[in-house]
Amino acid sequence: MAGLVIVNKSNPRATIVVASQATSQAKEAAEILQFYLEQMSGCKLPICTENETISGSRILIGHSETVKKLGVIPPSGITTQMNEDGFLIKTVGNDLVIAGNEDWHYRGTVFGVYDLLERLGCRWFFPGSYGEVVPKMDTIAISPLDIKQGPSFRMRNIWYSGWMPVSNEDGAALRKWYDCNKAQSLHISLPGDGSIIRLAPPEQYFEEHRAIYAIDENGERSREMLCLSEPESIRIAVKTITDAFRSDPTMFTFGFAPPDGRPMCHCERCQERLHGITAKHLSSPSLSDTWFHFVNEVAKAVEKEFPDRWLMTNGYANRVYLPEGVADFSSNIGVQLAMLQSCTLHRIGHPRCWQRQDYDAILKRWTDSNHPVIIYDYDPGVGVENLPFPALHNLKHDMRLFKQRGIWGFWTEGQNTWMRTHLNYYIRAKLMWNVDEDVDALVRDYCEKFYGAASDSIERYIWSMEEAFEKTDVHAYWRGSDEIPWRLIFTDKLVEKLQGYLNQAAQLADTEPYCLHVRMLQTAHEHMVAFLKMKAAADEGSYRSALSWADKVKAARDRAAEIDAALLPNTPDWVARSCATSLEGQQEIYQYLANRAGGELGQLAVMLPEVWEFKTDPFDDGLIRQWYLPNRGEPWAKIKTTFYWENQGYQDKVGHGYVGLAWYKTEFYAPKSVENRPLKLTFGGVYHREIWIWMNGLLIFHSGNESSQRPFDVKVTGHIHPGQTNHIALRIRSQEMSNRAQGGIYRRVFLFTP
Ligand SMILES: [Zn+2]
Ligand SMILES: [Zn+2]
Repeated sequence: MAGLVIVNKSNPRATIVVASQATSQAKEAAEILQFYLEQMSGCKLPICTENETISGSRILIGHSETVKKLGVIPPSGITTQMNEDGFLIKTVGNDLVIAGNEDWHYRGTVFGVYDLLERLGCRWFFPGSYGEVVPKMDTIAISPLDIKQGPSFRMRNIWYSGWMPVSNEDGAALRKWYDCNKAQSLHISLPGDGSIIRLAPPEQYFEEHRAIYAIDENGERSREMLCLSEPESIRIAVKTITDAFRSDPTMFTFGFAPPDGRPMCHCERCQERLHGITAKHLSSPSLSDTWFHFVNEVAKAVEKEFPDRWLMTNGYANRVYLPEGVADFSSNIGVQLAMLQSCTLHRIGHPRCWQRQDYDAILKRWTDSNHPVIIYDYDPGVGVENLPFPALHNLKHDMRLFKQRGIWGFWTEGQNTWMRTHLNYYIRAKLMWNVDEDVDALVRDYCEKFYGAASDSIERYIWSMEEAFEKTDVHAYWRGSDEIPWRLIFTDKLVEKLQGYLNQAAQLADTEPYCLHVRMLQTAHEHMVAFLKMKAAADEGSYRSALSWADKVKAARDRAAEIDAALLPNTPDWVARSCATSLEGQQEIYQYLANRAGGELGQLAVMLPEVWEFKTDPFDDGLIRQWYLPNRGEPWAKIKTTFYWENQGYQDKVGHGYVGLAWYKTEFYAPKSVENRPLKLTFGGVYHREIWIWMNGLLIFHSGNESSQRPFDVKVTGHIHPGQTNHIALRIRSQEMSNRAQGGIYRRVFLFTP
């Protein structure tokens, strides 16, 4: 066998060697190598220091005199650019050197060891033992190597848990997984929400320097936000930052950002600087001009003493846009761009997605401005339902774009749900290190190593799901309260196809752990199917059946937890309470409907049809011409009351939904038996800003503040004609364009007797 044999038929043929004064990272790396080589071959190689007598081949780990004598110079050092990460693996005669940059927070030597193990066939697709692949071999040989690597992006973080609870065990498994795949926690000072008070801690300044704090809506000084135009706030901010930089020479960054939400100082000077910019993606006036004027003044003053250190802030919420009125933007300002309100189903610049085209344009302005930009993104990018979120089709494209645009790195917010994100994080890690990696080949490798004989079926399963997302005309961004029309993405046809691949895989997987891995995917699939069936049952008006499917969703999560609790976790309590789209939020809605349609609060009188008539009213003609009466405003189109109108043809080629007034109408027969009974109409869900309802030609209801996510009841006692056909019409004013690609009735309407 060619190359360096380090284990021969389970007998040691090499020694792992570290410096006599080895760093803790080098010792750790040596132990990692020893551990996995033993797992692979059953043979434990000895670890020695370089001054001990060693015969045979040496695997030299980390920096040492011996490495120096061999003429090998591993990466080292740190500058305020923070781009010196890297390692080398080199065979020299009968020796092998693995060493990387260990300065500052760099993990180069550990990365080097994991890189070698990957070359020998080890993989860490997911954290913990579930995701680990360690091949068995009794002889281990290493072909001649001369590798020197550094990363494509200097910051490679995946905040996989996001705001979901995580056990200490999960946290430790993730930190190891970072090392295995050359990702890292960020070691820079990030602009966390509300960190602006770091600049002038209220306990220190509030009593004596009230004028530096922002004026809130009620005219009171706020302890959470600064006045951005007060010269004293700038002076104190500069002092805080320069003091911090002076006291710590390895502190290269100082991060600060306003509180979450729509932060603002309401003083006259700050308000004047806003320049009255309101625009899409913002949902409130843009603070960018006022904010970046402040940041710029601080940055210019700090730059005088510390020209090569960074002030990090974020382009988030009402600061997503660049300022329009700030000249000579100081180059020591770094920006973490977090565009929450942008479709995540599609890649950046997607030809059929205006939201992603906007993202492209905003990103380009930031990166053209020559400032360090860190991307804060979301994966999974939509919802809290725990349905699959395939993102490989986007990552393939977006990561290369990020590299071209000179992005520094990533902070990706997750939900600690590994079967939902599936391979996304692994592929992210691979592309963050080397943006030129071939995603198709990585997926193929995953399938072969993780599913054995079932690999082909699983590969088709993965790409079929990716293709469905790539092609969908549904657009959605992260939001906990608005329903995503999942059934239009995971169509019956697709689900059947996916089921076929999994059935095939289950037949082909013949040994463990492949059977277990296929079973896990089947569980995630059953979870998804139960969720979709729950929706389908509700669309038919079978709310009891929807509730029993919800129980099956839960049961699938419990089955997944038997394998690993982080794979398909249950919804955390506070998410269940606050997000209508969570499983628990959905259960609550179906319970509300079930109680009225044949339960403790009433009996169903009539389930109104699923398909109604529909007409947009861009010029507000309907009211004057009485479209609420039969045979007016002809012709009308047919529309389902189970999906938003955007998903039924009322959006343009790039996904702009129809915005403005629109009408729904239908007729229904009310049985004689409802005579003299109290009656209510229940609307399962209507996406609107304002709504008017006519019953048999009479306006009986108006609301401008109903929640669009929850069902509501309208009293119609005395307005229904028993034993006859009744006419109902709705006039709806949609939400403003902003980003909400949805409008109209999206859950069934029914009549019941309380
Ligand atoms: Zn102010
Ligand atoms: Zn889209």
